[in-house]
Amino acid sequence: KPQVIIIGRPNVGKSTLFNRLVGKKLALVDDQPGVTRDRRMGDATLAGLEFTVIDTAGWEDEDPETLPGRMRKQTEVSVEGADAALFVIDARAGVTPLDEEIARWLRTQDVPVVAVANKAEGRAGDAGLFEAFALGFGEPVALSAEHGEGVADLFDALWPLIGAAEAEREAAERAGEEADAEETEQGPLKLAIVGRPNAGKSTLINRMLGEDRLLTGPEAGITRDSIAVDWSWTDLTTGEDRPIRLIDTAGMRKRAQVVDKLERMSVADAKRAVDFAEVVVLLLDATRGLEHQDLKIAAHVIEEGRALMVAINKWDIAENASSLFNGIKAALEDGLSQVKGLPVFAVSARTGKGIDQMLKAAFELREAWSKRVPTAALNRWFDDALEANPPPAPKGKRIKLRYITQAGTRPPRFVVFGTRLDMLPASYERYLVNSIRAALGFEGVPVRVVLKSPK
Ligand code: GDP
Repeated sequence: KPQVIIIGRPNVGKSTLFNRLVGKKLALVDDQPGVTRDRRMGDATLAGLEFTVIDTAGWEDEDPETLPGRMRKQTEVSVEGADAALFVIDARAGVTPLDEEIARWLRTQDVPVVAVANKAEGRAGDAGLFEAFALGFGEPVALSAEHGEGVADLFDALWPLIGAAEAEREAAERAGEEADAEETEQGPLKLAIVGRPNAGKSTLINRMLGEDRLLTGPEAGITRDSIAVDWSWTDLTTGEDRPIRLIDTAGMRKRAQVVDKLERMSVADAKRAVDFAEVVVLLLDATRGLEHQDLKIAAHVIEEGRALMVAINKWDIAENASSLFNGIKAALEDGLSQVKGLPVFAVSARTGKGIDQMLKAAFELREAWSKRVPTAALNRWFDDALEANPPPAPKGKRIKLRYITQAGTRPPRFVVFGTRLDMLPASYERYLVNSIRAALGFEGVPVRVVLKSPK
């Protein structure tokens, strides 16, 4: 919930305003002397706008020169966590030197301020209202906390600061859930095998399908487009038959008898394939290792938001198998900082080794790619992540991260709401993305995070 803090010197009506916002439940507290010396918190509702309101200790006016440090500290701490501050003055008394001092201090704080000219019932507060303009917090709200006048204006002033963000968050969440509802029908796993020429794509596909189907397909001439082969893969560990729609680009090219000497052809294949695929397998050649071209293809797949896995083919003739495997894995982590934990498999299209494990992982990867994290769990992670590594405060300005919502799936997309997010360093954004991925089960999945501040 957003937090709104009430600030002002004593006797301007802070507690009355607090009670009005919170409702009758806490009204009695008001009668106890000294109760506003410590901060009070309550759940406030203002025309449907919900927030936590904090009544602060206030600024003592016994001696305007030296403000009691303890009180001031309390107020400062509360301001730091607040989304908005209501700075209350007494409209009948006008702006006093202490009000001015508070205003000066508030201007140095990192919180949006609404000036509230209280006790403005009737015309009695007109002069004070006019003076309150001069405080420099924009148009003051004329209010009578006691009589409930001006509450609509207070709402209008607070809404852009706290309500708009809340409404935006809810809308994003709803939109995400609606989009999901359309996507829950999973159907066959749409899988594409991409890679450089001669990596063994056709051999692998033929091995999976168990026949020389690709070479006997429709005539050349439909050429440049990918075609799909539907087939059912039997998961031997569970006995389940699982439908796969294989997006075939390589076999198609073979049919068209295009002798592909140009490396960029494989990038073009990959580009076509990702239009159709959910999961893309980048096939490498164990005898050649990871090459620049492979990273280019991989980066494209990730950019397009598809789930990517890597299979190192020709494992039957690989030399120094384990150091090769680890070397490729390390090079992928270095070259593709966007996705940590990319699944990597060693396979042989010739012997069939590793193919079942690879396909099983492809289904799991689609699961993660399509997953929605419940908002409560998501925000539990969020709070932990911020506590473990708080956002920086560049030039002493506090960047506030409020909450996060999952705006979509396939690939997973998240929206983080807060203030001053334009100042958030890219390194911190990466920290959030990597932490989401590791903590919430999105290994190997491209995760998108968008930052949103209220306008
Ligand atoms: P594509 O261009 O990616 O479709 O590659 P191909 O499927 O045409 O394979 C290229 C060459 O690599 C062919 O000579 C295949 O026989 C060979 N090849 C493919 N997979 C394997 C494998 O797992 N092991 C070995 N030893 N050779 C393979």
